Amino acid sequence: MKRFEYSRANAPEQAAISASANNASFIAGGTNLLDLMKLEIETPTKLVDVTRLELAQVETTDDGGLRIGTLVTNSDLAANPEVIANYPVLSRTILAGATGQLRNKATTGGNFLQRTRCYYFYQTDSACNKRNPGSGCPAIDGENRTLAILGTSDACIAQHPSDMAVAMRLLDATIETVKADGSTRKINVKDFYCLPKDTPHIETVLESGELITHVVLPAPIKGMHTYDKVRDRASYAFALLSCAAVIDVDDKGHLATVRLAFGGIGTEPWRNEAVEALLVGTDGNDEVIKQAADLLLEEAKGSGQNDFKIPLTRRLFKQVIGRALAGKGA
Ligand code: SF4
Repeated sequence: MKRFEYSRANAPEQAAISASANNASFIAGGTNLLDLMKLEIETPTKLVDVTRLELAQVETTDDGGLRIGTLVTNSDLAANPEVIANYPVLSRTILAGATGQLRNKATTGGNFLQRTRCYYFYQTDSACNKRNPGSGCPAIDGENRTLAILGTSDACIAQHPSDMAVAMRLLDATIETVKADGSTRKINVKDFYCLPKDTPHIETVLESGELITHVVLPAPIKGMHTYDKVRDRASYAFALLSCAAVIDVDDKGHLATVRLAFGGIGTEPWRNEAVEALLVGTDGNDEVIKQAADLLLEEAKGSGQNDFKIPLTRRLFKQVIGRALAGKGA
């Protein structure tokens, strides 16, 4: 591991100023960052410890939503009574990720910033455009079984690894930040991630030293909340494919609300509102489901080993909607 400076911040603005120096990183749970530092994939010259900031509360907002401090641990957020009662899909996504020990350390803000688990990204003697821009992408013609089929580019096909962020995209969450100049901004999760295009090393719109302080959820959405995760092991494994859903069916058996977000198949948490609009008001018959799945997968591109994700997505898509129409939870 490379040597680095360490400082502890007492206020969010101070943390942002401290971390605005070249190649500084914030550290909270450190569950991904420390591994990356040990492998010298990330080599910050300075770590700014934000764990003492007063950002570990969950509060209700005036419009009935929730404002979650960035330091709320994954375990605490999953077990929060408001989350369990009103945003069960969020609790389920968190509990589907990692292990109890990791969830006890990992924080809400940090979860959004997890790096991909593409094998080549962690194999420092291989090329990788994300780790070493311009060096190439061996995954496209190599080991790509776990990688993305949507949002990919000729430079990178790495999947986004987070479960929690899939629910945050589904729920239309907004990320609040503070910058080194003291200004703040609000970024919808929809606009937070960058597609890889020809700059896969740039993963979010965050600027140098910009600190996530809170995540705000709008008022709860009525309907059945489910999270399905397809993976190689029943626990402690990343998603090959996942689907977070909120679906409400009216008394005539028609889909009144449909929200669907996918993990494991996109270079970012994947949601397509046009697909949802196609389903709303219908009875979810086979033809409609096929049309909606066609639209979802219109630009899907397999790279060989991960081709199976395309038919697998179709099957899960049909299962999630069919189950909601039948009135059965996950
Ligand atoms: Fe690197 Fe992305 Fe290619 Fe994986 S898919 S080797 S992360 S450039």
